[in-house]
Amino acid sequence: MEKLDSYKVNLKGMPSDTVSYQWHVDDDFFSAVQGPEVQHGALDVALRVKRTSGAYELTFQLDGTVKVQCDRCLELMDQPIQARGDLCVRLGDEFSDDGDLVTIPYEDGTFNVAWNLYEMIALEIPLRHVHADGPCASQDDGEEAGDETPKPTDSRWDELKKLMTNK
Ligand SMILES: [Zn+2]
Repeated sequence: MEKLDSYKVNLKGMPSDTVSYQWHVDDDFFSAVQGPEVQHGALDVALRVKRTSGAYELTFQLDGTVKVQCDRCLELMDQPIQARGDLCVRLGDEFSDDGDLVTIPYEDGTFNVAWNLYEMIALEIPLRHVHADGPCASQDDGEEAGDETPKPTDSRWDELKKLMTNK
């Protein structure tokens, strides 16, 4: 986990009430985190840590792209990510992480944000993601095939034809 040491945030030793961090996460980050959803990507991450009474408010700004498998052709595609994420951290007796609130042991006082940052990125990937404009864009994928079945002839035209021939 040494590779992720630069994602350590020193909470106990904050020199002022607000501290900012900047990272550029890339494939090295994703391979070190070993998350299941994302293995490739490039994002700029800005973090602002604000000390409040009894807790720390962490605000992440994510801007970049990740590579995920296209649902339609299974090739990797770029998925743009632009998001803001919030996390509340406090110091306590032992470590716990329930998603929005993380508790860090007093003795430690530092928090490695790498995993929470990864989860924030993975959460931003839409459930269905396909190439907007790629080699697979014209392929049928089942859902769109329905639109291409020939439509039955419009019965109003038959009525009109009848009227015209009966005259
Ligand atoms: Zn595709």
